[in-house]
Amino acid sequence: MLKIHNLNKSYEHLHVLKDINIEIEENQVVAIIGPSGSGKSTLLRCINYLEKPETGTIEIDGACVNAESHTIKDIKSLRSKTSMVFQNYNLFANKTCLQNVLIPLEVVRSMRKQEANIVAKELLAKVGLSDKMNSYPAHMSGGQQQRAGIARALAVNPKCILFDEPTSSLDPELVYEVQEVIRQLTKEDVSRTMIIVTHEMAFAKEVADRVIYLEDGKACIDLTSEEFFSMENVTGRISRFINKV
Ligand code: ADP
Ligand code: MG
Repeated sequence: MLKIHNLNKSYEHLHVLKDINIEIEENQVVAIIGPSGSGKSTLLRCINYLEKPETGTIEIDGACVNAESHTIKDIKSLRSKTSMVFQNYNLFANKTCLQNVLIPLEVVRSMRKQEANIVAKELLAKVGLSDKMNSYPAHMSGGQQQRAGIARALAVNPKCILFDEPTSSLDPELVYEVQEVIRQLTKEDVSRTMIIVTHEMAFAKEVADRVIYLEDGKACIDLTSEEFFSMENVTGRISRFINKV
């Protein structure tokens, strides 16, 4: 369960997120869509406290951070429940694919080398990268790098995975292999929330249980995927947005 209550975030004088209130059930897959600059990435970054909001609380699986009064321990505890898949992969360039996945296992989950190696190899097998284990990111395609990014995100065993436009940096022919990995994750029988920021409407329609449309820092529309894509509920500028992307 993820609860976002009364979240406000500004950069200097720019009020980016405005009174966001969202509750997401365990096992729910939520697509966040909306125009560029509407605050989608900022919202994800506030959920794991990569950005500090001015007001509001974020609660995930018992870990709770109140923007106005919290300790470093609260933030650590919240972060341990989440992981992020970035648009540009953000792998360590000087580490192999396997080493990139080992880091969170050893550092965050304090696993010993031998166990970490076993788990990392399982995660790489899951995303179809067993044969690229010892490759460096520079020698991997964008699709392979992003699949490694997903394996790394899974390594912390998160309650909530945050995907920030995971396929938008990829050449079109590589989009499918990454979407396929995400699709498989949505089908796994584990208690995990997934939030996916995406412009791929067909993919959102297929994998998301729920769609939140963010515009100008406000969650303007929050519907089940079925309701959202039936279009009856979506008119005017939002339907123009969907048709454009
Ligand atoms: P989206 O992901 O929906 O495209 P963002 O969350 O990246 O939008 O950005 C929302 C707004 O906040 C934009 O106007 C952007 O320019 C601004 N912004 C984002 N990050 C920063 C930052 N670190 N400093 C100042 N302004 C920022
Ligand atoms: Mg963004």
